[in-house]
Amino acid sequence: MVRKKSAAAQKYIDDQKRNQEKLAAGLVSEKYPQVSGMVFRMTYYQELANPVLMLRTVNVFPSSPAYFHMKCMSKECDDGGFDLTRVINGMVRHRKKSVKGGMTCKGTGETLDKNHASISYEIKIRYRARGKR
Ligand SMILES: [Zn+2]
Repeated sequence: MVRKKSAAAQKYIDDQKRNQEKLAAGLVSEKYPQVSGMVFRMTYYQELANPVLMLRTVNVFPSSPAYFHMKCMSKECDDGGFDLTRVINGMVRHRKKSVKGGMTCKGTGETLDKNHASISYEIKIRYRARGKR
């Protein structure tokens, strides 16, 4: 049996990993110079005895990290979360202003159900005028 690290130690490792990934992702202004801002509106659903529902709005600025991997709300969830990067790449490529969709967490955990968490999202992106940077 693999010994589990203490929750605090595991959280520290996870936070370090996230910070490194954020740094590696670069800034929105570098990766998406044509974008002047983004807003994510997300509703989190959790599959529990009492389903928890959480609303979250995230504002993204040109100075924000170009990192769009949202954490799963389940504490036991390993390698889970919701990666909006592909959705955003697709939107920017086609200069789309708004998209709605949903995603299910693919993370795993001893006590976790396969469908333990999902989100529905609405993403809005503002673009700079063409030709101007
Ligand atoms: Zn999860």
